[in-house]
Amino acid sequence: MLMNVAVNELDQLVNIKQVEKGLACHCFCFECNEPVVARKGEKNEHHFAHSSNKESCNISPESILHKFAKQVIMEEQSIVLPPLPNNDEMEAKTWQFDRLVEEQAIGPIRPDLVASIDNDMLLIEVAVTSFVDKEKLDFIKQLSFKTVEIDLRELLSQSIDIPSEEARQFILEQVHNKKWLYPEAIEPKTSSLDWLSTPDISCINSEQINSYQNEQQSMPEKNYVKYRFTINKVWVDTWVFNDGGISVKAVNFNPDIAALLKRWSKEGGGRYTPNFKAWKYYNPFAHTVLQRLKAMDSTPKF
Ligand SMILES: [Zn+2]
Repeated sequence: MLMNVAVNELDQLVNIKQVEKGLACHCFCFECNEPVVARKGEKNEHHFAHSSNKESCNISPESILHKFAKQVIMEEQSIVLPPLPNNDEMEAKTWQFDRLVEEQAIGPIRPDLVASIDNDMLLIEVAVTSFVDKEKLDFIKQLSFKTVEIDLRELLSQSIDIPSEEARQFILEQVHNKKWLYPEAIEPKTSSLDWLSTPDISCINSEQINSYQNEQQSMPEKNYVKYRFTINKVWVDTWVFNDGGISVKAVNFNPDIAALLKRWSKEGGGRYTPNFKAWKYYNPFAHTVLQRLKAMDSTPKF
């Protein structure tokens, strides 16, 4: 197959139509990185050829599209996204980024793009052949990272040139192909009544946390157990996740509770998750925090 795309000296994808002919294109093979020449003669279809004259490489359209999508977002430093779930916003809007980094490792995951906006962070996953799996999604939820997935399969099935302005617009401006992986839309049923049914956790221990995990594995739609404590007359919500890690926040912001949670995070390790406005603790300290909250709790018992 003829190669009609290559990468330039800046490692950007270029189409044969966009470059000067011959070696003056200063391009390299997308696949093997060898220098290529742009063959733009009268007779044959225009294409790139290795300058060494070796046979054309097989370039997968999926790989090109994946790279192109990251490239246009990096160039534009912005993207239009559907409204955030559980938010007052109803309309899609343009997210303008302060900074974008490609393929940066965050713990066990390596998102396609990590964007910073003010003091917040957004992960962008470009999906052509592989989509975010459960393991990755669990990690994203644990750390409450805003994450959006862009599904580009539709672009592959159409005969749209990559790179092209049309493909660029599809990636940057369309909304129907984008999905929030986190935050997730919360079912209204998890709201006002669940604190009444808070199970008694007076003797909670790690075995019990494990048994909660097992229960939840058969209920994949819910990966946490939520408790509401009353501490100094303030409602404090606590989410115990599958791995035993917990998130804690006052229902309405309270400076004393905030200071307490911060002090605990200094003591036993933890971090503040800005988009959740909660303090996150990991095992084994999470267990200690949970016991302290229980000891301080003054919720009337029914
Ligand atoms: Zn090659």
